[in-house]
Amino acid sequence: MLHFAVAGVPHSTPAPGGTVEGLLRAKKLKINAMEIEWVQNVPKNPDRMAEIRETAEELGITLTVHAPYFVNLNSPDSAKLAASKRRILDTLSMAELCGATSVCVHAAFNLGQESNKVYDNVRHATADIMKHKSSLFPRVNLAYETMGKQTQFGTLEEALKISKEFGNYPCVDFAHLHARENGALNSAKEWETMIDLYQKVLGKKALKRMHIHYSGIEYSAKGERKHLPLQKSDAKWQDFLKVLKKRKIEGVVVCESPLLEKDTLLLQQYFQNL
Ligand SMILES: [Zn+2]
Repeated sequence: MLHFAVAGVPHSTPAPGGTVEGLLRAKKLKINAMEIEWVQNVPKNPDRMAEIRETAEELGITLTVHAPYFVNLNSPDSAKLAASKRRILDTLSMAELCGATSVCVHAAFNLGQESNKVYDNVRHATADIMKHKSSLFPRVNLAYETMGKQTQFGTLEEALKISKEFGNYPCVDFAHLHARENGALNSAKEWETMIDLYQKVLGKKALKRMHIHYSGIEYSAKGERKHLPLQKSDAKWQDFLKVLKKRKIEGVVVCESPLLEKDTLLLQQYFQNL
């Protein structure tokens, strides 16, 4: 099954909003997945997590989580590095409590260093995080995201390699890669090649539990500028959905359009009619 997730609480959620209200609203809209956006900070209240888990289970909603933006696993500053690892661990632990399947993380900035060096630093930090897997997040996947700027760690190859090394799977943000490559990677042929690589590194079964991000995107020579509504962008989203269908991809496609539920439903309805 491929689920289409709204990226956060739907715009049309009645006040005062919040994740639980957002889940109820998503269900009314016939959306069966949500990515919880802990991008500014991570809540720490286990009772609240239990409430989210119970609500999502009752409604049959699949959950993923987005970790805070303030992370750099390539930071030369030991306090910043420790804080980054702590934020990721906090996110994974709370995701475990609320029943989310996967947590996406913007792993690192390259800081002008060679990619091998950055990879090594990210790998060391990841090893420290993964030491806590069995005690803190046994059922949650740590998904490093493919990133939209060349200054960030996260080509498809990097995200796949580090995931493979630790038994995880990445968050493939196809919009970010389209922006990172300056407008390339926006055709059926290119998406199929990317899926072939994904399958080659992680195995065919991995196509049955993917964590995908998609939206329209504005970009310059330096890569990503901002996310856009699907119909106000150059995204060939219908062709993209046809490839997901053809390759029998399962898991979650998080729609990161600023229109939230409107574009999530656009994707979902088009996909269901294929
Ligand atoms: Zn992201």
